[in-house]
Amino acid sequence: MKVIYPGSFDPVTYGHLDIIDRCSKSFDKVIVAVLNNNYKKNMFSVEERLNLLRETLKEYDNVEVDAFSGLLVDYANKRNCSTIIRGLRAISDLEYEMQMSLVNKKLEEDLETLFMVSRGKYSYLSSSIVKEVAMFGGKISCFVPKVVERALKEKMNGGQD
Ligand code: ADP
Repeated sequence: MKVIYPGSFDPVTYGHLDIIDRCSKSFDKVIVAVLNNNYKKNMFSVEERLNLLRETLKEYDNVEVDAFSGLLVDYANKRNCSTIIRGLRAISDLEYEMQMSLVNKKLEEDLETLFMVSRGKYSYLSSSIVKEVAMFGGKISCFVPKVVERALKEKMNGGQD
């Protein structure tokens, strides 16, 4: 069974990586799909986000990293995949996630969204909070892998520590 795990991944955190790790064990193939959405203000370009994901996930044989733009249902059709994975950190995620899942179902009856509950130790973690901590010079090594930490520091101070 093949699944798509879509998101902004701006940047990827240990929360995302935990979901991907668990998916890679439960499914035959995981496509991590970076949404190329111009309307959302991202810190990292799509290429940068893809590179960070690829670098972090290089050990996984059954995980592919790709980018898409437009509707997720169209991308899922193109990739011949009918299962979407989304992570749930808290009840507050559920409202938006249910709405997205129902809209996608309306657009494509065969598309199923499966939710994977975040591990407790990552349930507070989001890309936005990591960027905020990094912006004020806080320690981010417990939130993101080394390569992401380095990329964030470069964004914040042009490479100077
Ligand atoms: P989006 O911008 O679409 O919300 P994100 O890149 O923030 O995408 O997240 C992609 C997916 O990963 C979403 O399903 C989100 O709920 C999930 N996710 C993000 N952070 C965590 C985390 N700490 N634990 C589990 N799932 C997470």
